[in-house]
Amino acid sequence: MNSIKLKAYAKINLGLDVIRKREDGYHEVRMIMQTIGLYDKVSILRTNNTSITVKTNLPYLPVDENNLVYKAAALIKNTYQISQGVHIILDKKIPVAAGLAGGSSDAATVLYGLNRLFHLNLPKEELMALGLKLGADVPYCLMRGTALSEGIGEKLTALPPFPFCYVLIVKPGINVSTRYVYENLKLNDSVKHPNIDAIVSAIKTNDLREAVSHFDNVLETVTVKDYPIIGQIKEQLMASGAITSLMSGSGPTVFGLYDSKEKAERSFYQFKTGNLGKQVYLTGLYQPRLKLS
Ligand code: ATP
Repeated sequence: MNSIKLKAYAKINLGLDVIRKREDGYHEVRMIMQTIGLYDKVSILRTNNTSITVKTNLPYLPVDENNLVYKAAALIKNTYQISQGVHIILDKKIPVAAGLAGGSSDAATVLYGLNRLFHLNLPKEELMALGLKLGADVPYCLMRGTALSEGIGEKLTALPPFPFCYVLIVKPGINVSTRYVYENLKLNDSVKHPNIDAIVSAIKTNDLREAVSHFDNVLETVTVKDYPIIGQIKEQLMASGAITSLMSGSGPTVFGLYDSKEKAERSFYQFKTGNLGKQVYLTGLYQPRLKLS
């Protein structure tokens, strides 16, 4: 095998809580992760030289060691002393810096792809440990589906699949820095922490309404206040018949879940023709796990 074509799926957070800031600067989190059907295409080709080259459809993305796909390939090549080069073609559709873990998913996909392309047969634990070096969400992106993520993202517990819903993704045309959001998050007594355990229990009993009633993202306490457009998108999603709407990760993307295709489609066209969403996608939850040995 000289090349491999893969899909790198985006994630949303059905719940996101921040427990505390650790002394090393990382935040300890508890998050419900969920893969969705929106993906980037990643093709990896073995070459006749020793270098890593990257080509992407987004002119503003780096193609050097600052791109996460490059970092992932370099990590595999250096760790396992592989001299042969690779060329990576990255066709991005997942909005960038959006809270959808696009870069993390691309990196996870390259780890998975090179493991197969170079017949490394790395066990799941080793691949996930490598992933964590690239980013807190990368181990989850090697797992996919519905999961509880704890620690800084490295402690993963698989959950039963969340009942299928249509997902409307709305990314406003603003940039929200992840660092800004975490720095302005006040973890004092007045902050309302999402009940992540209640979401986990409801998912285990397949109780969609109960699960959704506990969906919350503690980072919205910063973003909804500082970026009113996030609250406006949430309101329009709910008014259009979504069963819930929430910001994903540190934003600024907001998603709505729908149990009716008609309502989801109507809302999609409303956002497409309105001015709240710069990037708008209609997709669904995506449940298959990535098969690792
Ligand atoms: P998360 O949800 O994990 O916080 P995100 O969706 O907010 O991630 P990304 O799209 O992964 O953010 O990108 C964050 C930054 O990483 C961007 O500023 C971008 O320039 C850089 N980057 C490097 N490689 C990639 C890549 N392959 N795809 C997207 N962004 C990348």
